[in-house]
Amino acid sequence: MAQLSKSIDAIRIGCRQKITLERTREFEALAEKIKVSCPNCGATNNYPLGLTAKKVICGRCKYPLPEPGSVLELPAGQASAFFQSARLPVLVDFFSPTCVPCHMMHPVVDSFAKRRAGEVMVVRVNVDQHPQIAAEFGVQAVPTFVVLYKGYERGRASGALSEADFALWVMSKI
Ligand SMILES: [Zn+2]
Repeated sequence: MAQLSKSIDAIRIGCRQKITLERTREFEALAEKIKVSCPNCGATNNYPLGLTAKKVICGRCKYPLPEPGSVLELPAGQASAFFQSARLPVLVDFFSPTCVPCHMMHPVVDSFAKRRAGEVMVVRVNVDQHPQIAAEFGVQAVPTFVVLYKGYERGRASGALSEADFALWVMSKI
């Protein structure tokens, strides 16, 4: 009997510890902030995680901020301006909806964007819809990936890459 009550105590303590730990994690998540560049003015904002119900807006221009880790598809004019104004590095994924290797790369790019949220902004450009942006960058084939930092090109790669090679390549350029 004594042993049984001891183990009940242990369970109780275990539960209490677990609850405290979960609460701490909740608070940490609330306090955690991830950097995002505003798609409108390029300003770096600290996006508070854990407040997903609330719309987060840019501190400078009040434009709604994208959730960290999302892949952006911007209107042509905004995309070109963003490539110049973003203070975080930008990875541009030039793709065509009819290209098979582009489709193969989509999940790779999506998961990279999630894993590197706060370090790099990811923008997807449909070259059929935005031929002028493709021409601006001299994109000849798809998929083409271009890494930009403060408006300057840091590197580019064309064709499908493995997830590991892709992540290594982007990180070597930022
Ligand atoms: Zn802004």
